[in-house]
Amino acid sequence: MTTPNKQLRRKILEVISRGGSPHIASAFSMVEILNAVFRTMALEKIKDGARDRDRFVMSKGHGAGALYVIMHAYGLMGDDDLASFHANGSLLAGHASHFVKYIEHSTGALGHGLSPALGMAIGLRALKSEARVFVLVGDGELHEGSNWEAIMLAGHLGMENLYVLVDSNGYDQMGPLGSSCGIEPLRAKFESFNFATAEVDGHSEQEIMGVIQKSENKKPTAVICRTVKGKGVSFMESNVVWHYRTPAGEEYEKALAELND
Ligand SMILES: [Mg+2]
Repeated sequence: MTTPNKQLRRKILEVISRGGSPHIASAFSMVEILNAVFRTMALEKIKDGARDRDRFVMSKGHGAGALYVIMHAYGLMGDDDLASFHANGSLLAGHASHFVKYIEHSTGALGHGLSPALGMAIGLRALKSEARVFVLVGDGELHEGSNWEAIMLAGHLGMENLYVLVDSNGYDQMGPLGSSCGIEPLRAKFESFNFATAEVDGHSEQEIMGVIQKSENKKPTAVICRTVKGKGVSFMESNVVWHYRTPAGEEYEKALAELND
């Protein structure tokens, strides 16, 4: 039984607001992507710590609020731990940390999740494992050159067990991507690096799952998920202020009312 996305967004709103954390708009844009990936992974092996488990790396580590809420929804985190998000002394900081159980890699220094994810995929291939590695990158962090080094090598090696999901919301932390450094045409770029590439509605779990549940021979997969930053709350959608602002008071109540509709 999966948790409805509106319910997940309400929980994200609650933990981010209570913790006084920024990044709610980044968290809201990837809810369906996270749900699709966690529905696809073999969670029992992850819980067992099996060597040949599926792995998830959330390269856009500042969206940790959403990651912890989804882990809680799938039984990978308890109530007390989630309630401590962004509190002084908690392991659950505003960026994802490998000190938290089941987090594979610390992220938040942007552009540094894809290379270790590729390393994990190479390791699993060496083990002749069927397990897969899913890595979620923000479109803004694709400005970082290290991503393209990993993409080039993944394509060269034909890493069929690597799935790169791009949260393509069209914004980085300061504004529309086109005003800083455009990254389109993204699909053609991934294809030119020997990726099997799909472009989907990033708020449709079914579309995302339709790509990541089918296997591609001898190629890594890129899923360009077209999303809306701040998705689900009208006054946060595509409003860059909400990259950093924490909803409180009347704003919190307004957001909650929309997510309760
Ligand atoms: Mg973005």
